[in-house]
Amino acid sequence: MGMLAAAEAVVFSAAARAMLPPPPPDITAWCEANIVFDDRSPMPGPFRIDRFPFLREIHAVLSPEHPAREVTVRGSAQFGKTVSIIQPTLGAWHSYTALDSLVVHPTQTAAKEWVMNKWMPMRRSTPALREIFGEGRGDNVDAMFNMETVERNGSLKVASAGSPADLTGTSRRLVIGDDISKWEMSEKGDPEALMVSRAQAFEEAKVLRISTPLVKGTCRITRAFDRSDQRFFHVPCPHCGTMAPLTWENFRASLDPERLHAAHFTCDACGCVITHGDKEAMVRGGQWVPSNPRGDHPGFHLWGAYAPQRDWASIAVAYAQVMGWTSATLTEATAEGLKKQVEAETEQVFWNDVLGLPYEQASKGPDWEALRDRAEHAPEDETLPQGILPATGFILAAGADCQADRIEVQIVAFGRNLQRRVIGYKVIPHYVGDEDGRAALDALMKETWRTERGLRFPLDMLAIDSGAFTEDVKAWAKRYPASRVIHVKGAVSATGPVLLPMRERRADGKVIRTSRQGFMLNVSQMKADFYAWLAKADPLERGFVGFARAMGDEYFRQLTAEVRVLNRSRSGVVTSSWALAEAGRRNEALDTMNYAEAAARRKGWTALTDDQWHALSDERGAAPAEGQGDLFDAAVPLVAAAEQKTDQTPEAPRETPAKGGFLGLQPGKKWF
Ligand SMILES: [Zn+2]
Repeated sequence: MGMLAAAEAVVFSAAARAMLPPPPPDITAWCEANIVFDDRSPMPGPFRIDRFPFLREIHAVLSPEHPAREVTVRGSAQFGKTVSIIQPTLGAWHSYTALDSLVVHPTQTAAKEWVMNKWMPMRRSTPALREIFGEGRGDNVDAMFNMETVERNGSLKVASAGSPADLTGTSRRLVIGDDISKWEMSEKGDPEALMVSRAQAFEEAKVLRISTPLVKGTCRITRAFDRSDQRFFHVPCPHCGTMAPLTWENFRASLDPERLHAAHFTCDACGCVITHGDKEAMVRGGQWVPSNPRGDHPGFHLWGAYAPQRDWASIAVAYAQVMGWTSATLTEATAEGLKKQVEAETEQVFWNDVLGLPYEQASKGPDWEALRDRAEHAPEDETLPQGILPATGFILAAGADCQADRIEVQIVAFGRNLQRRVIGYKVIPHYVGDEDGRAALDALMKETWRTERGLRFPLDMLAIDSGAFTEDVKAWAKRYPASRVIHVKGAVSATGPVLLPMRERRADGKVIRTSRQGFMLNVSQMKADFYAWLAKADPLERGFVGFARAMGDEYFRQLTAEVRVLNRSRSGVVTSSWALAEAGRRNEALDTMNYAEAAARRKGWTALTDDQWHALSDERGAAPAEGQGDLFDAAVPLVAAAEQKTDQTPEAPRETPAKGGFLGLQPGKKWF
């Protein structure tokens, strides 16, 4: 279809075109005529549909001539939705007809990022877009969010789902909702409903929803996909020709931790192995097959296994990484692939970004009695008494929660492979704003804990809750450098980064600067991840949570005090929130655990390299030397080193592990 349309375009002379209405836009042909991937792309050169044959039908239903009024595309993070679907759809529609279009992103930041880094570069480098929108040089930001076409007969508006005012009072025939899984409810209502209502004035409007999924039950793109005709891309078995979609279940079933590089699919019909070498030819022979006869619009599901730039071994390696299969079993080749391709720190990110599937999260909290029993019945040699540190590499962090009459503090050692071990829990019977309270916290900062081999260490970092008693908490925190004490506050949003620096504002609301000591926490995400980790029973598993002996029933009750509940609004939108599992249950142990984790993350817990963990382990796991110097001082370089880098870079949403030395430390360099 694309090639044919291009050939026809050549045949028509300018005169003939002047007499005929323009041919209906073919988005595939638009891609082939206008997109050239640059040298940084895994596949540099002009866009060729035979590399992405699954896009052809998506392009077809997105054409203005196609009767579908809604289109849903749910997919993993690596199929180029922006460059090969969103932007070509805009380009092709605007070249075809006078048009007002609307593109909505989850937040103002995401909208700006799209305009500056995706849309403007393409608009400037693509003659077809320059013809419609002009050069756009020297445009201010406002102009970039409201782009008029050169002939003034159309416009492209860019908006944020977080600013409902942007979504009202404008009628648009083409409406694109990008990353809609990340859209949150606002006080003004549901941004998705507002977006859809923009198109209601037009009989021939089209609404595209496109996103990676998030959590099952609340995920907007999955809700839209479930309502759609649910198309999956079926490909022929290279051995028997049977058509079937590439599914994760099939791939997972043949995964061998010892041979990740040989990851493959297996044909259900003939039992033959389907290897990555077969992929290109298979995908070229593929076709979309709807699976929901009651669907009310075209919906497509795509994931990394189909992407030409993604090899199957790298998917296996990413999975091995999140599951904590030891790196010793990886061959050198896959270990190399691992370095390049690790994008999923948690199982949820793997499901969302690699598989393009919503993650099923336990909505029931963990059973506190089972957890207590597991901790209390753990073998002697796997546990330590309270207050004793393991002789291994760790970041010693504490989280503090302030109440009117007390401060509760949890002390946790965070190790490699996202494992952690609870060291102890203290209740300081004073208010944070009192002299006694401050003195007790000061003493805590000076206190040292002994490893099982006898070295002593102070806290690397303490995170204290500033959600309540804010001024008193900040006043105390200011006594310490941001490399040892941070103050934190739970964010309302459930989709932001785990750790986001607070903005310091003047009285008039203007941002003065980004705080070095204050952070917003995505506590919703942290709790969900923590509960998933709490379920791991094997101490060698990635994410395992270990406990000091005799923490007591109340501790375990508090640690598991909250459950995720789903709330359905009258408009049908489902959101989730955390609530106490039963009224009156206290939750300080869970809160302080989150704060301690925030402190550890600030020290690079999720980003240290293997070499850095080894170095830390050599130093902290050692036996005390004769006539050893001051160990309090000895710990400081780690603090300073981690601080150096994290201060420059606010943490990315899931803090992808070290891309080339997060701490700026050389492997083998002595730490302290
Ligand atoms: Zn077969």
